[in-house]
Amino acid sequence: MKVCVLASGSKGNSILVSGVHSNILIDAGLSGKKILERLHRVNVSADSITALFISHEHSDHIRGAGTIIRKQDIPLFINQLTFQAANYKLGKIEKVKIFENGYPFTFNEFLIEPFSVPHDSVDNSCFRISEKGYNNKLVILTDIGYPTRLVEEKIKNISTIILESNHDYDKLINGPYDWDLKQRIKSKNGHLSNSQACDLIRKIIHKGLKNIILAHLSEENNEPEIARSEMMKVLQEYTLQCNLYIASPHHPTEWIDI
Ligand SMILES: [Zn+2]
Ligand SMILES: [Zn+2]
Repeated sequence: MKVCVLASGSKGNSILVSGVHSNILIDAGLSGKKILERLHRVNVSADSITALFISHEHSDHIRGAGTIIRKQDIPLFINQLTFQAANYKLGKIEKVKIFENGYPFTFNEFLIEPFSVPHDSVDNSCFRISEKGYNNKLVILTDIGYPTRLVEEKIKNISTIILESNHDYDKLINGPYDWDLKQRIKSKNGHLSNSQACDLIRKIIHKGLKNIILAHLSEENNEPEIARSEMMKVLQEYTLQCNLYIASPHHPTEWIDI
């Protein structure tokens, strides 16, 4: 199984997961046209996408969802509350598959384990994904206010994590946003800061952790080099050989083997 983050950040999120037999998309927050362009850039045919999974109803995760689903005639996997909240933005969807956080299910060769995280959406799903017959696991953990005990459990012994590293705390506090928005971002229903992301990795660090992909970086309140250097310090503390990537709003990451 391998993964490519097509886009990440408040302007739009989409992640491509590729198994032995099929490809799936997690979120479609760019326009449908831009998602198709990004797929083309990583040499993946849109016709090879077999399903779209949606984490929550914020526009930066569903903007292109309706277009992609109708154009490719694929099923939408989504939880009930999120579907209700997103329905009017999605347009008509023929094949809706409702899942429930906390209840794993299989799709094609994938085992999908959706779980709840605190965020200012109706019922945000984060996903742990593995391939039948393989031990390696990918967790996608973005749009999360703070890491709960459940989150710590879900990311133990995984091999690859796409982890929110949204803001540098000082840049956020001293930055241009008004106080309501600053409060929202740093609240327990907002987004993870660089230092929260680092603390979380300290808790679960282990030899089998192969890749950390920092994601959903704020363009106003963070800089890729700040996020990278803070996480690099953690990896050096533990002398762990782990690949560190930064997902971008502007271009896809390379393919990363899970
Ligand atoms: Zn988001
Ligand atoms: Zn969100």
